[in-house]
Amino acid sequence: MSTPASRTPASRHHKRPRGEGQWALGYREPLNKNEENKKNDDGLNVRQRIIDIYAKQGFDSIDPADLRGRMRWYGLYTQRKPGIDGGKTAILEPEELDDSYFMLRVRIDGGQLDLAQLRVIADISNEYGRGTADLTDRQNIQLHWIEIESVPDIWERLEAVGLSTTEACGDTPRVILGCPLAGIDSGEVLDATEQIQEINREFIGNPEYSNLPRKFKSALSGCPAHCTVHEINDVAFVGVVNEQGEAGYDLWVGGGLSTNPMLGKRLGVFVKPEQAADVYGGVIGIFRDYGYRRLRHRARIKFLVNDWGPEKFREILETEYLKEPLPDGPAPELPRGSRRDHVGVFPQKDGNFYVGFAPKVGRLDGDKLHVIADIAERHGSSRVRTTVEQKMVVLDVAPDQVDSIVAALEENDLQVRPSTFRRQTMACTGIEYCKLAIVETKASAANLIDELERRLPSFDQPLTINVNGCPNSCARIQVADIGLKGQLVVDEHGEQVEGFQIHLGGSLGVNAGFGRKVRGLKTTAKALPDYVSRVVTNYDTQKKEGESFAD
Ligand code: SF4
Repeated sequence: MSTPASRTPASRHHKRPRGEGQWALGYREPLNKNEENKKNDDGLNVRQRIIDIYAKQGFDSIDPADLRGRMRWYGLYTQRKPGIDGGKTAILEPEELDDSYFMLRVRIDGGQLDLAQLRVIADISNEYGRGTADLTDRQNIQLHWIEIESVPDIWERLEAVGLSTTEACGDTPRVILGCPLAGIDSGEVLDATEQIQEINREFIGNPEYSNLPRKFKSALSGCPAHCTVHEINDVAFVGVVNEQGEAGYDLWVGGGLSTNPMLGKRLGVFVKPEQAADVYGGVIGIFRDYGYRRLRHRARIKFLVNDWGPEKFREILETEYLKEPLPDGPAPELPRGSRRDHVGVFPQKDGNFYVGFAPKVGRLDGDKLHVIADIAERHGSSRVRTTVEQKMVVLDVAPDQVDSIVAALEENDLQVRPSTFRRQTMACTGIEYCKLAIVETKASAANLIDELERRLPSFDQPLTINVNGCPNSCARIQVADIGLKGQLVVDEHGEQVEGFQIHLGGSLGVNAGFGRKVRGLKTTAKALPDYVSRVVTNYDTQKKEGESFAD
């Protein structure tokens, strides 16, 4: 473990850019409302108020600064009041959009769940969340319709099985992504589980790191398919083997999408597994101390990395935070295969099999989570995983159980051999619950999948379709083959209706790049299946041998 000295606040001798609100440069006075709220009281402190006051006295007793700020430190967001259309999203005051119910995000670091944990989430969903349970594209499970009165009981039940909602949202180190196959994939560079757990123990819920300039997204993985999308995390540790044959990590910083998408940058260092927590501490310390706090939309670490460049970032990390240089290291190998989702049946290194399946657009429910747990148990498995593609994986299936578990999952519409469209379409929460949304997403995406399967039954090329309800890119539109950004559009009758701006040709991996936003390329939500099937048909009929959609 690190010494405290390795994580001391930064010195103050760097050139002072004007007014970005960087703590390390002496700007301690809050420069906006969010910073003021965080300074007034740390987000982690809301937990006791929820237990002692809000859960007892009800929704109306909640302090507005807690309601729209600190609640997030425990994965709680107010839902959008039903019936408010997307045209009002930008013009109404936040309180006019707030419902008295909450979305609750359960963090699942590394996507690792045992069946007891899965069943507890299922029970909470059924008892307190009207049966809702959405798999997110960051390995969490999100519940809706949660009332403040039930939160202490929910926490007690989650915590009894080692789960938590701490820092699932907010300006904090959020869930740490990990490969769902960590420890079982015969091709993995290394198993990052221990480092994920160590970082979780040391940094999550730690008041030293609970007031960051903005959210902080992390990934650690030795996955040969690069399934944790390291290119678009704030910090990512990517498994590599150095010249001496040692397995460790290549360090990436400053990736992120949203309205100013940037790909992460390699620092060119080799991080030994036993150094990972210290290095994580250094990176998050830099973000806390040097991150821009003046403007929320420039506060993610990617802006700092972009301004400094990877060389300066590395120098500050080594000299001010780690107090020692890191050796140079290699870049990751090219990813295995053209899909990163782990859907299907594949051998584990111990002779058993893992079985990945695709619910439609990540939408499950409490009963279905119980069904998954029962099916896994009946087939001798005690572990499941969530993926970063809104999918799940059952581990440790004996060879003679594979056919039976595949049949059982498929009977429940948990498809193990889905179409490309079911497999590679994701959708964010959208207007059903999200206060920032402009359009509906989950039902539109589910309908799109059904239509594409009906119209193009033999299409089997890799093709990602990501559907977002607003420009925030929770469903990663810029790195999809077909990215759909929700907005209001004008239909053929001149009416404003829900629709999408189209981004084409984004990708991660070898040729990582953002999709092209073609000016004027928009569709109404109603015409979406026609539009996408035309695009896919054109690609399918005109592509050359080996040409991907992004090419
Ligand atoms: Fe909400 Fe926008 Fe994120 Fe979708 S992309 S979940 S609409 S903030």
